[in-house]
Amino acid sequence: MYGKIIKGIAGFYYVYVSGSGLYECKAKGIFRKDNVKPLVGDNVEIDVIDEGERTGNIKLLYERKNELIRPVVANIDQALVIFAVKEPDPNFNLLDRFLVSMELQGVPSVICFNKRDRISEEEKESLNNAYGKCTYRLLFTSAKYGEGLEELKSILVGKTTAVAGPSGVGKSSIIKALNPGADVETGEISKKLSRGKHTTRHSEIIRIDDDTFIMDTPGFSSLYVDIEQEEDLKDYFPEFGEFAPDCRFNGCVHINEPDCAVKAAVASGKISDLRYKSYMAIYDEIKAKRRY
Ligand code: GDP
Ligand code: ZN
Repeated sequence: MYGKIIKGIAGFYYVYVSGSGLYECKAKGIFRKDNVKPLVGDNVEIDVIDEGERTGNIKLLYERKNELIRPVVANIDQALVIFAVKEPDPNFNLLDRFLVSMELQGVPSVICFNKRDRISEEEKESLNNAYGKCTYRLLFTSAKYGEGLEELKSILVGKTTAVAGPSGVGKSSIIKALNPGADVETGEISKKLSRGKHTTRHSEIIRIDDDTFIMDTPGFSSLYVDIEQEEDLKDYFPEFGEFAPDCRFNGCVHINEPDCAVKAAVASGKISDLRYKSYMAIYDEIKAKRRY
Protein backbone atom coordinates (compact mmCIF):
# COMPACT_ATOMS: atom_id res chain seq x y z
CA MET A 1 0.00 0.00 0.00
CA TYR A 2 1.05 3.55 -0.78
CA GLY A 3 1.14 6.12 2.01
CA LYS A 4 2.85 9.12 3.58
CA ILE A 5 4.84 9.31 6.82
CA ILE A 6 3.08 11.87 8.99
CA LYS A 7 5.08 11.41 12.17
CA GLY A 8 8.19 9.58 13.31
CA ILE A 9 9.06 8.77 16.90
CA ALA A 10 11.70 6.49 18.37
CA GLY A 11 12.01 4.14 15.41
CA PHE A 12 8.28 4.08 14.67
CA TYR A 13 6.81 5.77 11.63
CA TYR A 14 3.14 6.65 11.42
CA VAL A 15 2.02 6.18 7.83
CA TYR A 16 -1.25 7.55 6.54
CA VAL A 17 -2.80 5.51 3.73
CA SER A 18 -5.55 7.25 1.80
CA GLY A 19 -8.82 5.40 2.32
CA SER A 20 -7.54 3.10 5.04
CA GLY A 21 -6.09 5.34 7.72
CA LEU A 22 -3.05 5.19 9.90
CA TYR A 23 -0.48 2.40 10.35
CA GLU A 24 2.32 2.18 12.89
CA CYS A 25 5.34 1.00 10.92
CA LYS A 26 8.91 -0.03 11.37
CA ALA A 27 11.51 0.39 8.66
CA LYS A 28 13.45 -2.85 8.64
CA GLY A 29 16.60 -3.70 6.78
CA ILE A 30 16.60 -2.03 3.42
CA PHE A 31 17.34 1.51 4.59
CA ARG A 32 20.30 0.68 6.75
CA LYS A 33 22.25 -0.63 3.82
CA ASP A 34 21.60 2.49 1.70
CA ASN A 35 22.13 4.75 4.66
CA VAL A 36 18.85 6.62 4.17
CA LYS A 37 16.54 7.26 7.04
CA PRO A 38 12.83 7.73 6.46
CA LEU A 39 11.67 11.29 7.15
CA VAL A 40 8.37 12.87 7.99
CA GLY A 41 6.90 13.80 4.60
CA ASP A 42 8.26 10.74 2.81
CA ASN A 43 6.01 8.90 0.41
CA VAL A 44 6.36 5.18 1.02
CA GLU A 45 5.18 1.70 0.12
CA ILE A 46 4.21 -0.44 3.12
CA ASP A 47 3.35 -4.06 3.85
CA VAL A 48 0.63 -4.47 6.42
CA ILE A 49 1.74 -6.87 9.15
CA ASP A 50 -1.42 -6.93 11.23
CA GLU A 51 -4.59 -5.20 10.03
CA GLY A 52 -6.26 -5.39 13.47
CA GLU A 53 -3.27 -3.94 15.29
CA ARG A 54 -2.69 -1.55 12.38
CA THR A 55 0.99 -2.28 12.14
CA GLY A 56 3.18 -2.49 9.06
CA ASN A 57 6.63 -2.39 7.59
CA ILE A 58 7.98 0.25 5.24
CA LYS A 59 9.49 -1.53 2.24
CA LEU A 60 10.12 1.31 -0.19
CA LEU A 61 10.91 5.03 -0.01
CA TYR A 62 9.95 7.07 -3.05
CA GLU A 63 12.37 9.62 -4.39
CA ARG A 64 12.21 12.95 -2.53
CA LYS A 65 11.39 16.26 -4.13
CA ASN A 66 13.50 17.95 -1.47
CA GLU A 67 14.85 17.44 2.01
CA LEU A 68 15.01 20.24 4.53
CA ILE A 69 17.57 20.38 7.27
CA ARG A 70 15.71 22.81 9.45
CA PRO A 71 13.20 21.38 10.13
CA VAL A 72 14.14 17.83 9.15
CA VAL A 73 11.37 16.94 6.72
CA ALA A 74 10.94 15.78 3.14
CA ASN A 75 8.79 16.83 0.19
CA ILE A 76 7.82 20.35 1.24
CA ASP A 77 6.18 22.52 -1.42
CA GLN A 78 6.09 25.75 0.57
CA ALA A 79 6.46 27.28 4.01
CA LEU A 80 3.79 29.24 5.83
CA VAL A 81 5.16 31.49 8.53
CA ILE A 82 2.61 32.78 11.00
CA PHE A 83 3.08 35.82 13.23
CA ALA A 84 0.50 37.73 15.27
CA VAL A 85 0.02 41.40 14.49
CA LYS A 86 -0.22 41.91 18.25
CA GLU A 87 0.09 39.85 21.41
CA PRO A 88 2.82 38.89 20.94
CA ASP A 89 4.10 41.81 18.81
CA PRO A 90 5.78 40.51 15.68
CA ASN A 91 9.53 39.99 15.88
CA PHE A 92 10.52 41.12 12.38
CA ASN A 93 14.10 40.03 12.75
CA LEU A 94 12.94 36.48 13.49
CA LEU A 95 10.49 36.60 10.59
CA ASP A 96 13.23 37.71 8.21
CA ARG A 97 15.60 35.03 9.45
CA PHE A 98 12.96 32.47 8.73
CA LEU A 99 12.48 33.85 5.21
CA VAL A 100 16.24 33.77 4.59
CA SER A 101 16.46 30.23 5.89
CA MET A 102 13.73 29.09 3.48
CA GLU A 103 15.33 31.00 0.56
CA LEU A 104 18.55 29.14 1.33
CA GLN A 105 16.74 25.83 1.12
CA GLY A 106 14.88 26.80 -2.04
CA VAL A 107 11.42 26.68 -0.48
CA PRO A 108 8.90 29.45 -1.32
CA SER A 109 7.37 31.22 1.69
CA VAL A 110 3.96 32.65 2.43
CA ILE A 111 3.59 35.15 5.29
CA CYS A 112 0.47 35.09 7.44
CA PHE A 113 -0.26 37.81 9.98
CA ASN A 114 -2.89 36.49 12.39
CA LYS A 115 -5.05 38.28 15.00
CA ARG A 116 -6.06 40.77 12.31
CA ASP A 117 -9.00 41.67 14.56
CA ARG A 118 -6.62 43.27 17.06
CA ILE A 119 -5.45 46.14 14.87
CA SER A 120 -6.95 49.03 12.92
CA GLU A 121 -7.08 49.33 9.14
CA GLU A 122 -4.20 51.85 9.30
CA GLU A 123 -1.96 49.49 11.27
CA LYS A 124 -2.76 46.74 8.81
CA GLU A 125 -1.82 49.01 5.91
CA SER A 126 1.52 49.78 7.48
CA LEU A 127 2.33 46.05 7.81
CA ASN A 128 1.07 45.49 4.30
CA ASN A 129 3.41 48.23 3.14
CA ALA A 130 6.40 46.62 4.82
CA TYR A 131 5.85 43.01 3.79
CA GLY A 132 3.62 43.35 0.73
CA LYS A 133 6.51 44.36 -1.52
CA CYS A 134 9.18 41.82 -0.66
CA THR A 135 7.92 39.26 -3.24
CA TYR A 136 6.30 36.91 -0.73
CA ARG A 137 2.60 36.17 -0.73
CA LEU A 138 1.14 37.96 2.28
CA LEU A 139 -2.17 37.47 4.01
CA PHE A 140 -3.99 38.61 7.11
CA THR A 141 -6.17 36.24 9.11
CA SER A 142 -8.23 36.16 12.24
CA ALA A 143 -8.60 32.62 13.51
CA LYS A 144 -10.96 34.04 16.11
CA TYR A 145 -13.43 35.49 13.61
CA GLY A 146 -12.75 33.16 10.69
CA GLU A 147 -11.34 35.97 8.56
CA GLY A 148 -8.94 35.15 5.72
CA LEU A 149 -9.20 31.41 6.25
CA GLU A 150 -10.73 30.71 2.83
CA GLU A 151 -7.85 32.54 1.18
CA LEU A 152 -5.42 30.56 3.32
CA LYS A 153 -7.08 27.29 2.31
CA SER A 154 -6.78 28.21 -1.35
CA ILE A 155 -3.04 28.74 -0.86
CA LEU A 156 -2.63 25.36 0.80
CA VAL A 157 -4.75 23.17 -1.44
CA GLY A 158 -2.96 20.29 -3.17
CA LYS A 159 0.34 21.07 -1.44
CA THR A 160 2.45 20.07 1.54
CA THR A 161 3.14 23.17 3.60
CA ALA A 162 5.50 23.53 6.55
CA VAL A 163 3.86 25.78 9.13
CA ALA A 164 6.07 27.70 11.52
CA GLY A 165 5.74 30.54 13.97
CA PRO A 166 6.52 31.51 17.55
CA SER A 167 4.16 30.31 20.24
CA GLY A 168 1.07 32.30 21.07
CA VAL A 169 0.50 33.64 17.55
CA GLY A 170 -2.50 31.39 16.92
CA LYS A 171 -0.90 28.53 15.04
CA SER A 172 -3.00 25.84 16.74
CA SER A 173 -6.16 27.93 16.38
CA ILE A 174 -5.54 28.24 12.64
CA ILE A 175 -4.72 24.55 12.20
CA LYS A 176 -7.85 23.60 14.11
CA ALA A 177 -9.98 25.94 12.01
CA LEU A 178 -8.56 24.43 8.82
CA ASN A 179 -9.07 20.87 9.95
CA PRO A 180 -11.45 20.23 12.82
CA GLY A 181 -10.63 16.50 12.47
CA ALA A 182 -6.90 16.97 13.09
CA ASP A 183 -7.29 16.11 16.75
CA VAL A 184 -8.63 12.69 15.90
CA GLU A 185 -5.53 11.46 14.11
CA THR A 186 -3.20 13.12 16.59
CA GLY A 187 -5.19 11.40 19.34
CA GLU A 188 -4.84 8.04 17.60
CA ILE A 189 -1.07 8.42 17.60
CA SER A 190 -1.04 9.57 21.22
CA LYS A 191 -2.96 6.44 22.24
CA LYS A 192 -0.31 4.21 20.70
CA LEU A 193 2.45 6.32 22.24
CA SER A 194 1.03 6.26 25.72
CA ARG A 195 2.27 2.68 26.00
CA GLY A 196 5.18 3.99 27.94
CA LYS A 197 7.17 6.11 25.50
CA HIS A 198 8.41 9.68 26.15
CA THR A 199 7.32 12.69 24.12
CA THR A 200 9.66 15.31 22.82
CA ARG A 201 8.15 17.58 20.17
CA HIS A 202 8.62 16.28 16.63
CA SER A 203 7.53 17.61 13.28
CA GLU A 204 4.15 16.25 12.45
CA ILE A 205 1.99 16.28 9.35
CA ILE A 206 -1.69 17.07 9.57
CA ARG A 207 -3.91 16.05 6.71
CA ILE A 208 -6.39 18.62 5.45
CA ASP A 209 -7.57 16.37 2.62
CA ASP A 210 -6.08 13.56 0.56
CA ASP A 211 -3.56 15.73 -1.26
CA THR A 212 -3.27 18.67 1.15
CA PHE A 213 -0.98 18.40 4.13
CA ILE A 214 0.39 20.83 6.64
CA MET A 215 3.42 20.12 8.71
CA ASP A 216 3.58 21.57 12.17
CA THR A 217 7.24 22.34 12.84
CA PRO A 218 8.52 23.01 16.36
CA GLY A 219 11.76 24.70 17.42
CA PHE A 220 11.25 28.10 15.87
CA SER A 221 12.87 30.47 18.36
CA SER A 222 16.42 29.16 17.94
CA LEU A 223 16.47 29.76 14.21
CA TYR A 224 19.88 30.72 12.95
CA VAL A 225 21.02 31.58 9.48
CA ASP A 226 23.32 29.10 7.80
CA ILE A 227 25.41 31.49 5.72
CA GLU A 228 29.16 31.64 6.12
CA GLN A 229 30.04 34.80 4.22
CA GLU A 230 28.08 37.95 5.03
CA GLU A 231 28.50 39.11 1.38
CA ASP A 232 26.20 36.27 0.34
CA LEU A 233 23.27 37.36 2.48
CA LYS A 234 22.01 39.92 -0.08
CA ASP A 235 21.11 37.10 -2.46
CA TYR A 236 18.48 35.85 -0.03
CA PHE A 237 16.53 39.11 0.14
CA PRO A 238 14.69 38.65 -3.17
CA GLU A 239 13.36 42.21 -3.39
CA PHE A 240 16.93 43.58 -3.62
CA GLY A 241 17.29 41.81 -6.97
CA GLU A 242 15.28 44.38 -8.89
CA PHE A 243 17.56 47.25 -7.80
CA ALA A 244 21.01 45.69 -7.33
CA PRO A 245 21.96 45.81 -11.04
CA ASP A 246 21.88 49.62 -10.78
CA CYS A 247 24.38 49.82 -7.90
CA ARG A 248 27.67 51.46 -8.92
CA PHE A 249 29.80 48.56 -7.73
CA ASN A 250 29.60 44.98 -8.80
CA GLY A 251 29.08 42.84 -5.72
CA CYS A 252 27.75 45.82 -3.75
CA VAL A 253 26.51 44.58 -0.36
CA HIS A 254 24.30 47.67 -0.01
CA ILE A 255 25.72 48.93 3.25
CA ASN A 256 28.57 51.43 2.95
CA GLU A 257 29.05 51.66 -0.80
CA PRO A 258 28.34 54.96 -2.60
CA ASP A 259 25.68 55.09 -5.35
CA CYS A 260 23.86 52.05 -4.02
CA ALA A 261 20.52 51.56 -5.75
CA VAL A 262 19.23 49.31 -2.96
CA LYS A 263 19.86 52.00 -0.32
CA ALA A 264 18.17 54.52 -2.62
CA ALA A 265 15.17 52.19 -2.89
CA VAL A 266 15.01 51.97 0.91
CA ALA A 267 15.18 55.78 1.16
CA SER A 268 12.33 56.20 -1.32
CA GLY A 269 10.21 53.52 0.35
CA LYS A 270 10.37 51.02 -2.52
CA ILE A 271 12.13 48.56 -0.24
CA SER A 272 10.85 48.21 3.31
CA ASP A 273 12.86 49.87 6.00
CA LEU A 274 12.06 47.02 8.38
CA ARG A 275 13.43 44.47 5.97
CA TYR A 276 16.57 46.50 5.42
CA LYS A 277 17.12 46.79 9.18
CA SER A 278 16.86 43.00 9.50
CA TYR A 279 19.29 42.66 6.62
CA MET A 280 21.91 44.78 8.39
CA ALA A 281 21.40 43.01 11.72
CA ILE A 282 21.78 39.54 10.19
CA TYR A 283 24.76 40.74 8.13
CA ASP A 284 26.57 41.94 11.27
CA GLU A 285 25.80 38.72 13.03
CA ILE A 286 27.26 36.54 10.29
CA LYS A 287 30.34 38.73 10.20
CA ALA A 288 30.82 38.56 13.97
CA LYS A 289 30.41 34.80 14.01
CA ARG A 290 33.02 34.36 11.28
CA ARG A 291 35.60 36.28 13.29
CA TYR A 292 35.66 33.81 16.15
P1 GDP B 1 -0.13 28.93 19.25
O1 GDP B 1 0.71 28.92 20.48
O2 GDP B 1 0.53 29.67 18.15
O3 GDP B 1 -0.60 27.59 18.82
O4 GDP B 1 -1.42 29.84 19.60
P2 GDP B 1 -2.89 29.43 20.01
O5 GDP B 1 -3.69 28.95 18.84
O6 GDP B 1 -2.87 28.56 21.21
O7 GDP B 1 -3.47 30.87 20.40
C1 GDP B 1 -2.89 31.68 21.42
C2 GDP B 1 -3.94 32.65 21.95
O8 GDP B 1 -4.32 33.58 20.95
C3 GDP B 1 -5.22 31.95 22.39
O9 GDP B 1 -5.69 32.59 23.54
C4 GDP B 1 -6.15 32.18 21.21
O10 GDP B 1 -7.50 32.18 21.60
C5 GDP B 1 -5.72 33.54 20.73
N1 GDP B 1 -5.98 33.73 19.29
C6 GDP B 1 -5.69 32.88 18.27
N2 GDP B 1 -6.04 33.42 17.09
C7 GDP B 1 -6.57 34.64 17.35
C8 GDP B 1 -7.12 35.69 16.53
O11 GDP B 1 -7.21 35.61 15.30
N3 GDP B 1 -7.54 36.82 17.18
C9 GDP B 1 -7.45 36.96 18.53
N4 GDP B 1 -7.87 38.11 19.08
N5 GDP B 1 -6.95 35.98 19.34
C10 GDP B 1 -6.52 34.84 18.75
ZN1 ZN C 1 24.05 48.38 -3.48
